[in-house]
Amino acid sequence: MKSQISGLPSTSDAGPAKRFGTLEPVTVSHKPSTSQSEALFERATGVIPGGVNSPVRAFAAVGGTPRFIESASGYTLTDVDKNTYVDLVSSWGPMILGHAHPAVVEAVQKAAQTGLSFGAPTESELVLAEEIIARVDPVQEVRLVNSGTEATMSAIRLARGFTGRPKIIKFAGCYHGHSDALLAAAGSGLATFGLPTSPGVTGAAAADTIVVDYNDLDAVRAAFEANPGEIACVITEAAAGNMGTVAPLPGFNAGLKEIANSHGALLIIDEVMTGFRVSRAGWFGLEQVPGDLYTFGKVMSGGLPAAAFGGRRDVMSYLAPAGPVYQAGTLSGNPVAVAAGIATLRHADADVYAALDNNAERLGTMIGEALDAEGVGHRVEYAGNLLSVFFTSDPSAPLLNYEQVKATQTWRFAPFFHALLDAGVYAPPSAFESWFVSAALDEDAFGVIGDALPAAARAAAAARPAESEPVTSRPRHRRDESGEVS
Ligand SMILES: *Cc1c(COP(=O)(O)O)cnc(C)c1O
Repeated sequence: MKSQISGLPSTSDAGPAKRFGTLEPVTVSHKPSTSQSEALFERATGVIPGGVNSPVRAFAAVGGTPRFIESASGYTLTDVDKNTYVDLVSSWGPMILGHAHPAVVEAVQKAAQTGLSFGAPTESELVLAEEIIARVDPVQEVRLVNSGTEATMSAIRLARGFTGRPKIIKFAGCYHGHSDALLAAAGSGLATFGLPTSPGVTGAAAADTIVVDYNDLDAVRAAFEANPGEIACVITEAAAGNMGTVAPLPGFNAGLKEIANSHGALLIIDEVMTGFRVSRAGWFGLEQVPGDLYTFGKVMSGGLPAAAFGGRRDVMSYLAPAGPVYQAGTLSGNPVAVAAGIATLRHADADVYAALDNNAERLGTMIGEALDAEGVGHRVEYAGNLLSVFFTSDPSAPLLNYEQVKATQTWRFAPFFHALLDAGVYAPPSAFESWFVSAALDEDAFGVIGDALPAAARAAAAARPAESEPVTSRPRHRRDESGEVS
């Protein structure tokens, strides 16, 4: 395999790492050619709104041309111009084993040969359900769906059906997919009634959504007291990863469980991002705080479209056909997606989780050292092996919620991102996204990252806020597969 970025190691090079720039400081990066991506993007914008099928892919927050990907293997993405990148997005989380893992590909091929969809039950759905239940103690039953959006939407309907109550509490900056009731955000401070954040979401759809600040248990208590007997559930990301990485304070998730249950409401823990990534049992495996309902996606289907929600048996038994709350899906439990999920989870053993943790820590340390070397104020935030980098003039100040994260120096991110990209490192194209490592990252991969970081740190150091933008800039675009609409 060849790379047009000079000296970038490619996955098929068995020999010792060819390090880009080890002999001289990496000031000269030969800008990779992107003419094929440009041509495809141009064509795509004529037939697909904004040229992409999920907004963050358009690079709106960082500018430039989104790379059209031709193939991926291990830690490497290859675009249509034959540039290769060390992938630190991992399809926004699912690819913990790396891309095109042979065991997962083989499982998918085998499943495809025996039929693509039946619209009738299969043993493999049951096996995936059992695998999820075996890993996450509080989950006694699961229902498979097709996306994380569907999982959270359905879990909320179930919580409302089970409790007979209309309202829900969510946290500003937490993203739970793009269903109407969850596309509500609001100002900080005490409980605020949700205002729709997207045209097309009616006030009625958002009115039953109460939005409070993340990591603020007092605000949650106040919301319950202001709405007695009306709140069906609290939904939270197990650890926030969609405003960048913001870990829950110790005791926050446990406090949510206690407060919700003491008011007769359910706690829905959204593990779509953290589930089966931060440990074999997801965030639950790290903190042991039980939720009443859970949502899963991303890793559990290994890169194919499948997701799930599950939890307490007495609650799940309210779902049709066992109970009255309706939920369905033509392709739910799709045998090919289920095969990818089972193969991915079966291969995600203790070594894989150790590698994910080590790789995240190594990456975060390298980013921090490179930025320190250039005197760029920053915080690298972790939640398990999720991480992101925030540029800030006050690195000692903790970042606990969306308001604080939005006030960081996000204008340093685009130049940082593009310097990495030009040197063959594919980071998330927004300051408000988590970085996702895979277990496939090896010495070659970290060599490329290490060679790319000094120039990226210099670019971040040289960045200045745009004239029109206040220093505390807001994210300027809608987010998606991982992003609160802003
Ligand atoms: C990605 C994500 C979702 C939405 O999942 P989709 O499959 O994109 O619909 C929901 N919740 C969280 C926490 C996520 O990270």
